[in-house]
Amino acid sequence: MPATPKLLRRCLIVVLLTVFVTLPRDFAFAWGNEGHTYINRVAAQRIPATMPLFLRQAAVEIAYLGPEPDRWRNPAELALKNAQEPDHFIDLERVAWLDPLPQDRYEFYRRLYEKQAATSDHADDYLPEHVGLQPYITMEVYGRLKAAFREYRALQTAHKPTLAVQRAIIFYAGWLGHYVADGSQPLHTTIQYNGWVGPNPNGYTTEHGIHGLFEATYVAANIAAKDFAPMVKAPTRLTDPFHDYLAYLNSSRDLVENVYALEQGGGFRGKGSPAARDFTVHRLAAGSQMLLNLWYTAWLESAEPNPEHLPSTPAPK
Ligand SMILES: [Zn+2]
Repeated sequence: MPATPKLLRRCLIVVLLTVFVTLPRDFAFAWGNEGHTYINRVAAQRIPATMPLFLRQAAVEIAYLGPEPDRWRNPAELALKNAQEPDHFIDLERVAWLDPLPQDRYEFYRRLYEKQAATSDHADDYLPEHVGLQPYITMEVYGRLKAAFREYRALQTAHKPTLAVQRAIIFYAGWLGHYVADGSQPLHTTIQYNGWVGPNPNGYTTEHGIHGLFEATYVAANIAAKDFAPMVKAPTRLTDPFHDYLAYLNSSRDLVENVYALEQGGGFRGKGSPAARDFTVHRLAAGSQMLLNLWYTAWLESAEPNPEHLPSTPAPK
C-alpha cells in the first residue's frame, strides 16, 4: 500500500527530529560558508610580493577551499566524517591542567587517556575525540605546506617544472585556512560551544542555537569580506608557530563570554547591533591575520636547512 502524504510527512518529521536531537557537538560549521570563504580570500589578497606570485594569483582557489573540511561531514562518507570531526575544535577548559600542551599528537592522546583513567565522573569527556584536536591538525597541515614550499624551492633551483607542487601548495594553504578560521571563532575553543553549561550566574542562553546564529546566520546576512579586509596587515613571522597558535586559541577562548553577552542583548538578531558587528569583524580579521602569518612563516622556514639535531622519533614501520 502506498504511503499517504500525511504518513510521509510524519516520517519526515521523525527523521528530522532524530537528526537534530542526536546531532553531535561538531555539527557546527564554524563561520559558515561565507565566513570561511572571506577569511581565506582576504588573507590571499594580502600575500606579500616576497612570496611566490602563483600563490597570490590563486585567491579564487584559496577562497573556495576555506569551507573544504566542512564538505567532509556528509554521512555519505561516514569514515571521513567521523575521523575528521574532532579537528574543528578544542575544549580548552578540559585541558587547563595540561599546560603547555604537548606538540606531539600521540603524547596528547596518552596524557588524556591517563586523565580519563584517573577520572570517575564523566571520564569520557577526556577522550581525545571529545576534547578536540584543533591545534594538532592545524600544525600538521602547516607542516605539509612548509614541506611543499621546500620542494618548490628545490625544483626551482634545479630548473625543473613546478606546476604540480604549486597546485599542492595552493591546496595546503587553503585547507590550513579552514582550521585557523575555526580557531578565531571563540565557540570552537570551549565546552560552551552551543548553549551555556554548568553554573550560569549571568543567565546566558542555554539553548542550542547561539553557535550557528553567530557564525553563520548573522555573518551571512550582515558581514562582507570588505568589512574586515582593511584590518588585516602585512604578515609577521611567528617565532614559534605551535606556541603562537596556542596563544591565539587562548585569546579566542577569552572571548567566549563576549559572544554570550552579545547574544543576550540581541546583538546577533536580524541586522544585529554595532557592538556585535565590531566584535565579529575583529574575530574574522584575527583569523585572516593568523592564516597570513602562518603562510608567511611556512614560506620563510622552508628556506632553512633542516635542524642538525632533529628530535628523536621512533623508527617508521
Ligand atoms: Zn570547521
